[in-house]
Amino acid sequence: MLPHFLDLIYPPICCACGKTLIKNEKHLCTYCYLILPIENFNLSNDNDIAKVFWGRTKITSAATLFHFKKESKVQRLVHEIKYHGNDQLAIYLGELFGKRLTQVSTTIDGIIPVPISHKKLKQRGYNQAERIAKGLAQIMDLPVLEDLIKCNSAKSQTTQEGMFNRWLNVINSFELPEVIDDVSNRHLMIVDDVVTTGSTIEACILRLRQIFPNLKISVGSIALAM
Ligand SMILES: [Zn+2]
Repeated sequence: MLPHFLDLIYPPICCACGKTLIKNEKHLCTYCYLILPIENFNLSNDNDIAKVFWGRTKITSAATLFHFKKESKVQRLVHEIKYHGNDQLAIYLGELFGKRLTQVSTTIDGIIPVPISHKKLKQRGYNQAERIAKGLAQIMDLPVLEDLIKCNSAKSQTTQEGMFNRWLNVINSFELPEVIDDVSNRHLMIVDDVVTTGSTIEACILRLRQIFPNLKISVGSIALAM
């Protein structure tokens, strides 16, 4: 009874436009769902998101659910999952992404969410990338390897001089706990909410390859900032 009762006081609203949702609508109203910019969805190594990593680190393929511009509905969705505690929306967007990915053929064996620091995890209560990974993995029937790479809070606090040292520091701010699974020859997709410069994902990939040099990695995000 409780969820229905709460719906009377706080009717569910569309996360993209704020309109009250009607029966059978979930997180998004039908209008927003239809006009969200899922353009040219593909998983490849020469689309807009893959190009972010060109000349930096080798990836097998990349895909983004949306392209986004400032002040857009997609930005509102990203803010919902990042700053307004809406982790259910993050799972839902992961599911939408998973449905697109199951329409193209992939050899992906598992999903790695981009880790966040202990401090952010405490503030937010969840890692939005982990929730996205959860929705995605459910649809694709794949495991989420959330313990494969973690943020090392001690190392991320240190400040070092020089660009190279700072970059090394970013890479070392990710730690690989005791090797749980040998993923050496696997193909994993690293997932985040938004890709802007791609630096965090690049650092994660470089760190993972220090241990698993043959690991095949693809990149997935809910939104690509243009
Ligand atoms: Zn709407």
